[in-house]
Amino acid sequence: MANDPKDADARRAVAPVICYPTETLPQPDLDRYLHGFAGARVTGMAEAAPREACSFRVPAGSFFRIVSIKGPQVGDLNLWNADDLTERFYSGKTRALHGAHVTTGARLWSSFPTLRPMATIVEDSLGWYGIDPFGGAVHDVIGTRCDPYTGNLLSGVQYHHCCHSNLTRALADATRLSLPEAEPHVHDVLNVFMCTGFTRDTGQYFMKASPVRPGDHLTFFAEIDLLGALSACPGGDCSSEHSSDAAVCYPLRVEVLTPAHGAMDGWQPPEVNGYNRSHGR
Ligand SMILES: [Zn+2]
Repeated sequence: MANDPKDADARRAVAPVICYPTETLPQPDLDRYLHGFAGARVTGMAEAAPREACSFRVPAGSFFRIVSIKGPQVGDLNLWNADDLTERFYSGKTRALHGAHVTTGARLWSSFPTLRPMATIVEDSLGWYGIDPFGGAVHDVIGTRCDPYTGNLLSGVQYHHCCHSNLTRALADATRLSLPEAEPHVHDVLNVFMCTGFTRDTGQYFMKASPVRPGDHLTFFAEIDLLGALSACPGGDCSSEHSSDAAVCYPLRVEVLTPAHGAMDGWQPPEVNGYNRSHGR
């Protein structure tokens, strides 16, 4: 290119540096969690109908599992501190710490000022998928959530079963907040079972048919008392489009599992972040 500086190739050739080396992150004791999980039994269940969301509560020290049933389906997950909705899942920081897609061992971090693990992934039946030749991988913390505002912006439609609206209704029902009160608490999601990446040539966010099949599941340990909401995305397996009723959709099940008595003895919920919040004043 005529405008390229003389050292353009040299500048491009600079090797990348990982933004947040995670060697100093407190590592989860996965063996401990799996030991607790081995004797856990299902004590609660919720089901997100197609193009709807369900809510569920998980006590700290318990597990929850999102299960594909009936057919390939993507889910949009929100998590809140059950006692304080202002502490909620922070998708962007989770992405910065663990990468664009999460699997076993990754943690879902909470918003400022608490910034602590809310949940830890202990089991992922799609862990085999890895990164495909297109750069796609499963369970992303890239996408925000499908929403009616973007749909309106791009195509002028009024569609009421985007994940954003489904999560808003589910949170309102779970907390008895009105829809306008509940809506600001809905946040960027973990895209459970969704297969996504960025195109190599244009850097655009892409999706492709999820490899999930009935029986596949993603299992979490709850690090704090959680209120969760899961939307069965109107995109179905996200092979073609979302924000409409066009895609074939299936339900998703959430199971809450309680470990055997004493199995998690001695485990402590994570402290809130230690920053003193003086911000230099
Ligand atoms: Zn969606």
